[in-house]
Amino acid sequence: DPAVTLRDVHKRYGRGNSAVHALRGVGISLPRASFTAVMGPSGSGKSTFLQCAAGLDRPTSGSVLLGDTDLTKLRESRLSDLRLTRLGFVFQHFNLLPALTVYQNIRLPLKLAGRPVDRGAIEQMLARVGLPDRARHRPGELSGGQQQRVAIARALITDPDVIFADEPTGALDTTTAAEVLTLLREAVDNLGATVVMVTHEPSAAAWADRVLFLVDGEVSDELMLGDPEEIS
Ligand code: ADP
Ligand code: ADP
Repeated sequence: DPAVTLRDVHKRYGRGNSAVHALRGVGISLPRASFTAVMGPSGSGKSTFLQCAAGLDRPTSGSVLLGDTDLTKLRESRLSDLRLTRLGFVFQHFNLLPALTVYQNIRLPLKLAGRPVDRGAIEQMLARVGLPDRARHRPGELSGGQQQRVAIARALITDPDVIFADEPTGALDTTTAAEVLTLLREAVDNLGATVVMVTHEPSAAAWADRVLFLVDGEVSDELMLGDPEEIS
């Protein structure tokens, strides 16, 4: 089965005359170990799409499935367990805890999930993201690109099914952006994770397997990359 399925998802904010219809019948299915970029103009519903797909917000109608689990049918406590154990999150501004060391930031999701902490696994993860000697540093002592690599390590440490990334390169220059996108690409190709990334940068979307274009809360186009049929 697909990693993520949305079926006729609608999201309205507010009621009556002032209601905003942010998603208007979105239906998509994302295969396992795929990398999807979500693009579209400001206000087209990209953030709302990500929030609904990640179980951070509830659609007004329709269903959202993670594997065969319908998130819209889960109570809030089960939903937050599921986010902690099966999903990873990467944000534009990294969202690391400044008072914790790099090591402690990466360890945090394991602690929150009540899972055993394997020091070796955390050290391996630090090496994977190219920061083998930064364990004792605090986020403020690292560059933006290094902080985002820590955030990706934190997202990967629980071996999530799906990683949701909201403008992960939005605060980075081109070179460090490419390093971060390489890590997301490797998570898909080597770890079998499914990545869903909102971006407004075509150069970032080019790393994905497919691009979903949202316009006015609807999927207006879906482009498969690296597919010769599509390019010709
Ligand atoms: P994008 O991420 O593409 O900029 P959003 O998903 O943030 O789009 O917003 C889609 C529409 O929903 C916009 O019209 C926006 O103003 C509206 N919207 C988003 N969040 C809220 C909210 N919490 N309350 C009311 N309207 C919202
Ligand atoms: P806590 O006191 O929060 O349980 P630990 O005892 O695990 O933390 O670690 C104490 C400090 O040592 C932390 O600042 C952490 O960054 C650092 N540390 C722990 N394990 C390692 C390691 N394998 N490599 C480098 N630094 C580590």
